[in-house]
Amino acid sequence: VSEPNRKLLEMYQTTVDLYHYILMETEAGQAALDYVHARGLSDELLREFKIGFAPDENLLEVYLKDRAFDDYQLLHKSGLFITSQEGQLFDRFKGRVMFPIRDAFGRPVAFSGRILVKNEQVPKYLNSPETDIFNKRKILFNFDKAKAEIRRQKEVILFEGFMDVLAAYRAGVKNGVASMGTSLTEDQIYLLERHAQRLLVCYDGDEPGQRATKRTLDLLEPYGKMELGVIMLPDQMDPDETLHKYGLEHFAKILQENRVSPIAFFMQLYRQGRNMRNEDDQVDYLHDVLPELAKTNDRIQQDLYLNRLADEFHLERADLRAQLDQVVSQVG
Ligand code: ATP
Ligand code: MN
Ligand code: MN
Ligand code: MN
Repeated sequence: VSEPNRKLLEMYQTTVDLYHYILMETEAGQAALDYVHARGLSDELLREFKIGFAPDENLLEVYLKDRAFDDYQLLHKSGLFITSQEGQLFDRFKGRVMFPIRDAFGRPVAFSGRILVKNEQVPKYLNSPETDIFNKRKILFNFDKAKAEIRRQKEVILFEGFMDVLAAYRAGVKNGVASMGTSLTEDQIYLLERHAQRLLVCYDGDEPGQRATKRTLDLLEPYGKMELGVIMLPDQMDPDETLHKYGLEHFAKILQENRVSPIAFFMQLYRQGRNMRNEDDQVDYLHDVLPELAKTNDRIQQDLYLNRLADEFHLERADLRAQLDQVVSQVG
């Protein structure tokens, strides 16, 4: 680590500690503490993840300078401030619950801050900009803590949001990670492939979440090293909402039992918005589903789903098989 980067890492650690202290111990953090408690985060969990609060004022510059972080250039490019035209530093994060983002060694290198009350004027989550120590394409939230468990279970679960990773963690499912509000990158895929044999996508059950699941599966498909699966949540909820509705035990069970193959996921996805009693829709559906079936080399899996399709649409299994083989020869 270069000297400036070492200093930057120290600056982040100092800031994590400050925000955490403000959340846990001060009047200024009380409303935020009530908020995170109401969302089910215990003090123990808040301490473990060093979750904090950035109050609605400029305090970081003075605080850091008092602790010998007095290199203006470093403060300026730390990502912790917004610099005015005149070069003044203003705290970037204000009035937000602060989630430290750590690198694979567990060192905080960035933040994501959530506002307490959602409104249309400001983004719900605000992330640190990229810096010399933070490349968001390479970082996965909670990978540092999850790594050992991922290796032990040979499996990783990919969530959409921080609160979802924390929900799973509370339910004892500690091999969860989340990308930084963007789609997965090649770097992140390589990182996961090195540690996991199986990857489960557990995105939100709503429409955007389902579309993102398709995107992620399509993205992972060509890598082909990891076995893929999807955890489908009930009632269009996200994992955190599922935990709130069903409780810890039932939620943990859902994470185990609602696992389906990518094909089964696609088979329900392509149903959406279609009237499955309408013949044109049925044909369109089959044209969407067969290419997904064609992607697996597993004959048994293909047969299983072909049988289901044949039953459902009263088709000859052999005709479906012929059609599938044709699709396979087209894509392969
Ligand atoms: P919460 O439960 O706190 O409302 P969430 O995780 O359910 O948050 P979603 O709206 O489902 O939030 O979004 C999923 C993820 O996308 C978030 O965790 C965050 O990483 C990212 N995200 C959401 N909104 C924004 C935003 N306005 N700017 C940047 N990232 C965002
Ligand atoms: Mn979502
Ligand atoms: Mn969500
Ligand atoms: Mn949520």
